[in-house]
Amino acid sequence: MPGNPKVLISGAGPVGLTLANELVRHGIPVRIVDKAAQRTDKSKALVLWSRTLELFDAAGYVQGFLSAGLQAHGAQISTGKQIVARIAFDLIDSRFAYALMIPQSETERILEERLAAAGVTVERTVGLSGFTDRGDSVEAVLTGASGDSETIQADWLVGCDGAHSAVRHGLGLAFEGSTLQSHWALADGHVTGLDRQDHLHIFWHRDGILAFFPIVGDRWRVIADLGPAADGELHPDPTLGEINALMAHRGSPAIAMTDPVWLAAFRINERKVKEYSRGRVFLAGDAAHIHSPAGGQGMNTGMQDAFNLAWKLALVIEGAAKPALLDSYSRERSAVGDLVLKNAGRLTELATLRNPLLQDIRNTVLRFAAGFPQIQHKVADQLGEMDIGYPDSPLTAASGPVANGPKAGERWPHRLAEGPGGCRFTALGLPDPVAGLAAKFPNLVTMGPACDPIDAKTLRLIRPDGYVGFTGGPQDTARAEAYLAALEA
Ligand SMILES: Cc1cc2nc3c(=O)[nH]c(=O)nc-3n(C[C@H](O)[C@H](O)[C@H](O)COP(=O)(O)OP(=O)(O)OC[C@H]3O[C@@H](n4cnc5c(N)ncnc54)[C@H](O)[C@@H]3O)c2cc1C
Repeated sequence: MPGNPKVLISGAGPVGLTLANELVRHGIPVRIVDKAAQRTDKSKALVLWSRTLELFDAAGYVQGFLSAGLQAHGAQISTGKQIVARIAFDLIDSRFAYALMIPQSETERILEERLAAAGVTVERTVGLSGFTDRGDSVEAVLTGASGDSETIQADWLVGCDGAHSAVRHGLGLAFEGSTLQSHWALADGHVTGLDRQDHLHIFWHRDGILAFFPIVGDRWRVIADLGPAADGELHPDPTLGEINALMAHRGSPAIAMTDPVWLAAFRINERKVKEYSRGRVFLAGDAAHIHSPAGGQGMNTGMQDAFNLAWKLALVIEGAAKPALLDSYSRERSAVGDLVLKNAGRLTELATLRNPLLQDIRNTVLRFAAGFPQIQHKVADQLGEMDIGYPDSPLTAASGPVANGPKAGERWPHRLAEGPGGCRFTALGLPDPVAGLAAKFPNLVTMGPACDPIDAKTLRLIRPDGYVGFTGGPQDTARAEAYLAALEA
């Protein structure tokens, strides 16, 4: 779709594709460009976690992922000789209480095909080569493979262009953080000798971690910590022989891989920008934050950036909300990025301990802690990104205590699909106050389903991304109206 779009998305990885789908669902014209000729054929990010699945479900297109993925119901950590802990994903507080294992190549295919069905084609071999924020629009230069270029005007630009983001460089934002010392080997291939295919298997061996993630059939992703490289150079890509030797030594001689489709060495970066936006330009996904794959939350967090940004852009572009609504994007998602980096960093530190005494202490403490169902539950919810909320957001307001259920800033656990084009707050509570808010703010509010008597004791406004924006007493319409009036254009 050539021409000047409302939103230009640079980068058609999983995050750019999620954002494009969401904006198109809300009726916003977009262009999405990618400098690569094809989408990835690698399995890269393998997990779609529960919260991400809930968001795709509310948007009406989770089914494609569910049909193509495999449900993993837990993780088992062992030393090879002894089980240290089992984490049951069934404890995740979600209607998708599992990790959906699906190669990133498939995730991108599903998103790109859905986008094409909605009439938007990813413009490939087209890179964003420069941009200028003119205050009332963004002038962007798009360059094709043969060097031909086009200058366009977009109302908004979103950089979903990955770890080496041209948009982030263009904004001059520092990608603060560091590269970890440890080097890692990755293999994706056919594995025999593992007992439960619906589980992640993690071996905490004295010499380093070895982890297996199921993909499909007998195909597994294997990663192993190789420790710091002596000369600081990147470890060469592992051979199949090296991977099999690592699996026999750290796991069991019964485990073996054949027919690898991907063998690679990698290092872990922990980096993040402080601000996710400046003027009319935003960053989302790896362009804004990268971290250890421990926890498998990189792509999920990026997709949730996209869900957070899409409804805000849509309401502003429609003229329903003031542009100031967009300021909350960076505040909310940067805080989430900090949390995800911290959690992934801790997990990586635990997994890569090399001192035998510290390893023993870690194993003993974890074995003990895993015996408590509450701790298991908390860990499972954290992995599923169910604990993410926006308690400190400028969009979070509470008037008085909440009698029952989620507070302002927390996730609303029930599906509240408003239909394919839905992009409104949902009012929940007693019928009259709810109807009054929907009538007074038709561009911002829709009436939710009837509440059960306990939930109706609280008047709530649920944001389009499924978080509680406002809570008040059952008849507290004045405060709810003030909340909405502050947002309304
Ligand atoms: C080996 C490996 C294993 C991983 N394992 C996991 C895992 O288990 N779990 C997890 O959550 N994450 C994992 N990740 C990370 C995950 O792949 C990323 O978090 C995810 O791809 C980020 O998506 P994105 O859309 O933000 O960026 P990307 O997927 O990097 O997509 C960016 C896109 O932007 C395009 N682009 C770049 N510059 C420009 C430009 N100037 N103009 C136009 N287009 C441009 C690129 O071609 C690319 O298609 C892994 C990554 C790797 C490499």
